[in-house]
Amino acid sequence: MFEDLKRKTVLITGASSGLGAGFAEIFARHGARLALAARRVEKLEALQRKLVDGGADVQVVALDVTDENSVEAAVNAVTPHIDILVNNAGVATFGRSLEISASDWDKTLDTNLRGLFLVAQAVARRMEREGTGGSIVNISSITALRASRGLAAYSASKAGASHLTKCLALDWAAHGIRVNALCPGYIETEMNAGFFETPEGLALIARTPMKKIGRISDLEGPLLLLASDAGRHITGIDLPVDGGHLVSSL
Ligand code: NAD
Repeated sequence: MFEDLKRKTVLITGASSGLGAGFAEIFARHGARLALAARRVEKLEALQRKLVDGGADVQVVALDVTDENSVEAAVNAVTPHIDILVNNAGVATFGRSLEISASDWDKTLDTNLRGLFLVAQAVARRMEREGTGGSIVNISSITALRASRGLAAYSASKAGASHLTKCLALDWAAHGIRVNALCPGYIETEMNAGFFETPEGLALIARTPMKKIGRISDLEGPLLLLASDAGRHITGIDLPVDGGHLVSSL
């Protein structure tokens, strides 16, 4: 299973921390060639050193997904080609809908929806030009699929990302490009670990049918299914990975 990854190059955006860095470690373990992209190149280089020490082939590219010139340059810099894109870069904004500022709204949508589209488009153009086809995995969220208090801008951006996924899957199937969305529930990373020990965090876990918080390792199988040839007949789907959070009782 996933043997094809040994012949593939994977571009991961937002690979400098959290899920993106975890996804890089997963693909490296499965023998894929990696291109790590984000704004903080020094953090990417630290991860690159670690993965190269483990035997992986890893390149680093500077990328700001909100800047179309940066997107174009980063996508063209990846060698020898791009077989898989993990469109992971994103920002989270919290706050009551009555108080969201226009600048927070713009930053959220610019990164999570416009940026995600620009990267997908640049990668798909390259795949089409080179005639390789490929797989795009957009990192959406369960907030794309159900309303959540205090997350209007973020949820709208993720709902947009999930719907865009279906539109792009339809448009690009003829070019052999599959496009799917992975929709994680709450996943513990270094940055949010403390939250799950607070009363609010514990209440959230209690509301989740499987009564546990997700870990990056829980995303491994679903991510590789969508990215690799194991999912060769799957395109245009949302795949929630959330311990049943979406089906929690009314
Ligand atoms: P994170 O903040 O650790 O990672 C986000 C990454 O995106 C960082 O590397 C950041 O530098 C990068 N990024 C942000 N703006 C960028 C830009 N303009 N250009 C390039 N890179 C940029 O957070 P995370 O939790 O690892 O989130 C990764 C993705 O997973 C996001 O899209 C997020 O919405 C999604 N997600 C996370 C969870 C969770 O519980 N952690 C749940 C569902 C979805």
